[in-house]
Amino acid sequence: MIIMRESSEGQTGFSGRFSRLNRIPPYLFSSLDTLKGTVKRGLIDLSEGNPDLPPPKELLTVFRKALKKTENHRYPTYAGKLTLRAAVARYYQRRFGVTLAPETEVVVLLGSKEGAAHLIWAICDSQDRVGVCDPGYPLYFNQIRLCGATPVVLPLEEKKQFLFDLDLLTRHAPNLKLLCLNYPNNPTTAVAPMAFYQKVVDLALKYGFYIVNDNVYSEIYFNSPPISILQIPNARQCCVELNSLSKTFSVPGWRIGMAVGNPMVLRALLKIKQNIDSGPFGAIQDVAVFALNNYQRFSEKIRAVYQKRRDVFTTALNSQGWEIKPPPATFYIWAKLPKKWQKGEGSSYTFVTEMLKKCRVLSAPGEGFGSGGEGFVRFALIAPERRLLLAAKRIGRWLKRNSKG
Ligand SMILES: *Cc1c(COP(=O)(O)O)cnc(C)c1O
Repeated sequence: MIIMRESSEGQTGFSGRFSRLNRIPPYLFSSLDTLKGTVKRGLIDLSEGNPDLPPPKELLTVFRKALKKTENHRYPTYAGKLTLRAAVARYYQRRFGVTLAPETEVVVLLGSKEGAAHLIWAICDSQDRVGVCDPGYPLYFNQIRLCGATPVVLPLEEKKQFLFDLDLLTRHAPNLKLLCLNYPNNPTTAVAPMAFYQKVVDLALKYGFYIVNDNVYSEIYFNSPPISILQIPNARQCCVELNSLSKTFSVPGWRIGMAVGNPMVLRALLKIKQNIDSGPFGAIQDVAVFALNNYQRFSEKIRAVYQKRRDVFTTALNSQGWEIKPPPATFYIWAKLPKKWQKGEGSSYTFVTEMLKKCRVLSAPGEGFGSGGEGFVRFALIAPERRLLLAAKRIGRWLKRNSKG
C-alpha cells in the first residue's frame, strides 16, 4: 500500500508526489473564497469576472425546444455541430469581415478557458518558450508552466496603454514557439489597435511562432468595436483566435466557446480534445447557433447595462476622491490604488483585505494577475447599479477616514 505523506508540502499545499502542481500557485479565486468567508452579511462581491445578468429570455425558449431532441442527449461530435461551426463562421463574417471555412477553421469549445489550456498543451513541448502578458489572465502563465514550457514575460504598463513593448517582443521572437495575447485585456481593460496586431503578426510570420488571441471581450466595448486578429492579412497562417458566448450573452455557466483560424493548430487542438472531452451538450450548441445568428440584438442590450454600471461606479468613486478611469472595454475597472496605499510588494493584497474588512466590498488584487498587477485592484461590474453605488459609498467613506488617520 502506498501511504500518501504530506510532509514535504510546499507553499502550494502539495507534496512532492504532485511535483507538477508545485509549479503553479493556488488559483486566485480559491484564495479569495477563504477571505470572503470572513464576512457574514452584506458582502458586495466584485472580485470575479462572472456575469450576473440573466441570459436573454429567447435563448431559454430555444433551449427548451432543443432539450426535446433525443439526439442532443447522445455524445456530441468532437469539433462541434456543423450548424454551430457555420454560425460561428457567419458571425465572424458579419462582425469582423473574416471568412472562415466551418469544417477546417472552426472548432467548438467547452468555453474558451478549455480551449486556451488545451491549445497550449497541443502546441508546446517542455523545451519551448511562450510569450505571456503580465498582468494577465492567470490560466496562460499557469498552463505554460504545467506543460513544462518556459514563460517569457511581456510586461503591460500603464504608460504604454497596457500594450507590451514591441522591441522586447522582437528580441524574444527568434526563440518563441507561441505568443498568448488577450485584447480587450483582462485585467487592464486595454484594447489593441490594428497597427499593434499588424506588427505582432508580422513578427510571428517572420520568425515562425504561433499566436493565440483571446478575444472573449470582443462584444463588451464602449468605444469603437474591437477587431479580430484574423482581420490582419495572412494572420491565419500563424493565428488561432478564441472567443466565447460566456461574456457576450451572459451565459458563463453554459460552457460554450470557439477557436477559429489556423487549420493545422486546430487539428492539433482536436487531437488533444479527443482524448479529454467529448464536446459541449448538443442542446447548448443549438442555442449557441440562435444566439450567434442574432448576436447584435442581444449583445447590444448587455453592453448598454455594463456601460451604465461603468459610468455609475466610476463617477461615484471619482466623486469620493478616488480617481478612476472609465475602461474602453470589458466589464472591469482596473483601478490604481490610492497614493497612500501604494507601498510596494503585496500592497494590493493588503488593500483588498482591508477594504473587505472595512467596507465589505471584495475586489481582485492586482498581483493575482502577475507581479505586473502590483499596485492595482480589479473590480468586476457584476452587481446592479444600486449595489455598485453602495460599494462606492462605503469605499469613499473608508478612504476618507483612512486618509485622516
Ligand atoms: C472569462 C475569460 C475567459 C473564460 O471564458 P469561458 O469562455 O467562459 O471559458 C477566458 N479568457 C479571459 C481573458 C477571460 O476573462
